[in-house]
This record gives sequence, C-alpha cells and structure tokens, in this order.
Amino acid sequence: MLKTIAAFDRIGEENAFAVLARANALIAQGRDVINLGIGQPDFRTPEFIVEAAIKALRDGHHGYTAANGIVPLREAVAADLHKRYGVEVSPDAVMIMPGGKPTMFMSILMFGEPGAEIMYPDPGFPIYRSMIEFTGATPVPVPIREENGFAFSAEETLKLITPKTRLIILNSPANPTGGVTGKAEVDKLIDGLEKWPDVAIMSDEIYDQMTYDGEKHVCLLSYPSIRDRLILLNGWSKTYAMTGWRLGYAVFPPKLYDYARKLAVNLHSCVNASAQYAGLAALKGPQDEVRAMVAEFDKRRKVMVEGLNKLPGVSCATPKGAFYAYPNIKRTGWKAKALASSLLEDAGVAIIGGPDFGILGEGYVRLSYANSTENILKALGRMNEFLSTRKAA
Ligand code: PLP
Repeated sequence: MLKTIAAFDRIGEENAFAVLARANALIAQGRDVINLGIGQPDFRTPEFIVEAAIKALRDGHHGYTAANGIVPLREAVAADLHKRYGVEVSPDAVMIMPGGKPTMFMSILMFGEPGAEIMYPDPGFPIYRSMIEFTGATPVPVPIREENGFAFSAEETLKLITPKTRLIILNSPANPTGGVTGKAEVDKLIDGLEKWPDVAIMSDEIYDQMTYDGEKHVCLLSYPSIRDRLILLNGWSKTYAMTGWRLGYAVFPPKLYDYARKLAVNLHSCVNASAQYAGLAALKGPQDEVRAMVAEFDKRRKVMVEGLNKLPGVSCATPKGAFYAYPNIKRTGWKAKALASSLLEDAGVAIIGGPDFGILGEGYVRLSYANSTENILKALGRMNEFLSTRKAA
C-alpha cells in the first residue's frame, strides 16, 4: 500500500467542474443541456490579446522567464492598479501567477497549520475551505447573509477573530452570491483590524471590474494600515475572458513575497511566457471589450433576476457584482443539491447547489449568467416547467 499524507483525506474540490463534466457527458449522449454552472465568461479572449501571444512565440519568447514574471508585466500591473485605484504599488511587490487559484493556495499554505485558525466567507469559493483543511488549520466560516445583501459584515467578521487567527480571506465582488461589500463596511473592518496587527488578510478581487448599478469596487490596497499584511489576489481570467490561459497576479508584502517566489520556483518555475505577453497586451491595450462584456453581463443579470423571481417558490436578490445570481429556493421545498441534480438530469439545466459553497449554502443555488440571453431565457422556461410540475424530492 502506498503511504500518502493524511491531508489528502481532507482536501476538497470545486463541484462546478464535476457539474461541467456531467453536463458535457449528457451533451455527448445527444442531450440538450444549458450550462449555467461554470463560472467563466462565454466571450472569446479579445483578438489583439490572442495576437500578442502568437507574436510572442514568433519573437522567440518560449523559454523560462523569471519566477515572479517578466518586468514589463509586473510594471503594467502596478500601473493598472494605480490608474484604477490611485494606489502606489511597486512592481517588485507584484508576482505573476498561473491563475488566481495559486495565490490562494500559496497564501493559505503560508499561514495554515494545526492550531491556526483561518477565516473564510461561507458561502464562498470552495477552494478556500479545501485548502485550509489541507493544511490542518481550523477553518472558521464567516457567514455571508442574504439579509445583508450578501456583503460581508465587519462586525460579524471582527467578532470571530481570536488569538489563533492567522489569516482572513475576503472576497468582493463575491462568488457564489454576486454580493459586493461597500466602502463603509470595509472601512469598519479595517478599523477593527488595527487591533489585530498579527492577522494577515487575503483579498480575492478577481471580479473587481464586474460591478453594476453604479456600485464601486473597494480595493483593499487603498488602506495603508494593512498594507504590510495584505495579499491581493487578481488576474486576467474573468476580466479578459482568459480562464484557460492560466494567468493571474498577486501583490504580496515583502516578507511573503519571497516565500511566494520560492514556492513558485519549487512548483511551476514561471508562468507560460506567451501568456505573460498576452497579459501585457491586455493591460496596455484598449479596454472597450471589457466594458462591452460587463455591459452585456449587466443586461443578462436583469433578465435572469427578473425571470428567477417569477419562478414558483424562488426569490432572488439583485446581485451587484461578478456574473452569478444566487436565488433563495427555500419555498420550493427542494433541497438545493437535489434540485440542481434533478434540473440537470431531467430538465437539461446545469446549476450549482448552494451547499457546494459552504455550510450556509442550503436553501440557495448558483446560476451563472455568463451565457447568452437566449439560453438564459430557455433555461428559465425549463426551470419554470420543472418547478410547476415536479414535487420536491
Ligand atoms: N477567486 C474566485 C472568487 C473565483 O470565483 C475564481 C474562479 O472561479 C478564482 C478565484 C480562480 O480564478 P482562476 O481561474 O484565475 O484561477
């Protein structure tokens, strides 16, 4: 028998990938399935970005780069953060990553060990808890509540901090709820965190460009009092429709930067060189395709929320960010995962049950509106028919 470490009994997964695989298997059998399960833009990467990657390869950029990324890209990230948020970031604090996930992986690895507590949003991106458990640290869920517009609560977060807390993970705009936390609430949290100078913060801002109804994203880099213990997670996946390129970035404080650089050297050496040149073109090029994509998401968001609120037993708060709707299905009588599974198998609509995002996810499901309006309307029609005719299992 192979003897592997016990941590692998605790590591979790992201069920969106399992739902995607099942949806594709059904499609391969000839079934008509509308996939509102996976969280990725349905747009193509803008053509000038693709061209930049091709050019980079033709120009001979096919070797290793520095583990922390090419200098022009780190400079472009710093300039972009300055342009959008007015924050000073040294390119030496920016690390280019193979996607957004490696930043959470590394950050949790830096602080997680038995006896340590790590706080994370629940419902939230499933990898947070999975990785916390993997390290042997104690996961401490911070409740994200519908009655609070799915914003995190500063008061509730601060109350959960103990002398064992090492890291707090924040995410706004949020997956799976689409919730956005406003400036007043973030201010309150940062004020409270001044009493806990040993607690690190990882702010997952991967959806920062996707806010609606005039909601302004608050970048945590704008708070000087936490800069020496703040890790920023961001990347190209969602903003530029580049999920498959595996390109992201982190901003680390100096001590952690070197840990991350060493982890990179041990793990992946560097990020794919041509993808880095594509990322550079994305930041330096015109941003109108990003704006057009967000405007299109906004339209679909309205269609989806309106449609969901007409379904029997369903009520859906209007999400202010990302590209997810997170309706309350408690009055349908269905358990969330049973509903998601039956909708996929019997009605050809792939969605994700709330419990896949945490203990507090029961009674909710997540639908991504990164799909065409036509498909969204068709899916809503199928859901209406299903909920009107089928008894809760
Ligand atoms: N953070 C959140 C909140 C996400 O929803 C996702 C992807 O779904 C990621 C990070 C990971 O992004 P990437 O695909 O760049 O690793």
